[in-house]
Amino acid sequence: MLRVVTRKYACRQCGKPALLEPSNPWRPFCSERCKTLDLGEWFGERYSIPAESQDDFSEAADLPPPNSPRPQ
Ligand SMILES: [Zn+2]
Repeated sequence: MLRVVTRKYACRQCGKPALLEPSNPWRPFCSERCKTLDLGEWFGERYSIPAESQDDFSEAADLPPPNSPRPQ
């Protein structure tokens, strides 16, 4: 006896049930909107990686200026 398996999946974007079937062109998302949002976040993270020059700047800002008195 076969059980009917409903191939539902939590949408990676909003968590709502999404169909994992060919009828759903946006799988594993529930809709085009969620798919677009996810891709947008992915690319956003990729392009928001700070450049090395920014790291150097923040490290330099932590050091006291050479002329400032040092607390003992
Ligand atoms: Zn969704």
